[in-house]
Amino acid sequence: MATASTAALGAVALPSALAAFAPRTLPQAAADVDVITHIPIGAPVAPPLSADYVGVTFGNAATKPARVRFIANGTQSEWHHLAPSSHCPDTHPVGLSTDLLLIPDGCSSVEVAHDDPSTQPSAVAINGRVRSLTGVPNSTTRFLSIPVVTRSGWGAQTPAGGNTWRRSFRRPQMITVHHSATALWSSPAATVRAIYRYHATTLGWGDVGYHLLIDPAGTIYAGRDTGNDQSPVFRQPPSGNGTAELVTAGHAYALNGGNIGICLLGDFSTSRPSRAAQTSLIRVLAALCAALGFDPTATVNYTEPDTGARYRVPIIAQHRDLNDTSCPGAGATAAFAALRSTVAARMSAVTAGLDAGLNEESGIDQITLAE
Ligand SMILES: [Zn+2]
Repeated sequence: MATASTAALGAVALPSALAAFAPRTLPQAAADVDVITHIPIGAPVAPPLSADYVGVTFGNAATKPARVRFIANGTQSEWHHLAPSSHCPDTHPVGLSTDLLLIPDGCSSVEVAHDDPSTQPSAVAINGRVRSLTGVPNSTTRFLSIPVVTRSGWGAQTPAGGNTWRRSFRRPQMITVHHSATALWSSPAATVRAIYRYHATTLGWGDVGYHLLIDPAGTIYAGRDTGNDQSPVFRQPPSGNGTAELVTAGHAYALNGGNIGICLLGDFSTSRPSRAAQTSLIRVLAALCAALGFDPTATVNYTEPDTGARYRVPIIAQHRDLNDTSCPGAGATAAFAALRSTVAARMSAVTAGLDAGLNEESGIDQITLAE
């Protein structure tokens, strides 16, 4: 099933009598409001102030998508379809949650529906806004020589119940690319925080499910906590001797052990990732492959370390190669065939000294990205 939300294909003018709620006036200040508000199923309601996203959870695993529609600026959208997501840890089976959906500007009404009450659907409105993070020490780190915003830098806040997701570390075997299937709010860092709060608190995982997240400007954010804020992905930076210890995250159900999850922020069901996002993805994939001794064009035998299940997979996989999902979206898939060879070309360029020190800008123009 698809995890991607289905974009509304059109909209219908709304009789004024149905525009029951006044459009929200969103606070412009980045107030520290950790909004997670339950919203009812089956009836339109005014969206909570400061809530930027809607997500749907299920008490029993669902197979059918939830439906969400909005009234924004006096116009009712068509239904958006939110399928049960396979972006989850191995301990949280597929079907218990959807990805998040952006609440549009000018929204005065949100309505969530699901056709199977036996799944006990529940909806939440959520945001990721925090106070200004200026002045946070060590807000970026160098990950394989690439700048990455640390968890303290983007404002990860431990859930009220604590981070209950006990860390385990496994030998890295493969890398999987995702999209968030979620359009971005105006602040990409706020989108990272919203996804984090949804995963950590609403879904009860204790932490975010991805290892790295990349926004449309190409900024890379550290995800799942390794226990070392200065070392994303791995317990310690890889030494190059094959002993890298990858923290287990939750981004591809049943194939999470030893699998690095990188999420492109945005919904690429129809559009392609930005050039800046593709560039950052290629850089981090090339750096990971070089550090881990991966051939980016290879297909490998992957063994899930905890279950022993074996799969034949591309060493740089799309999520759709692993689970029943459209992730990372048809728009990203269209660029993917060239991605692996571009990563290989970048590794060769680095090896040849064309990009000494993995400087952020040098070398990129020597590689033609898929357009
Ligand atoms: Zn995915």
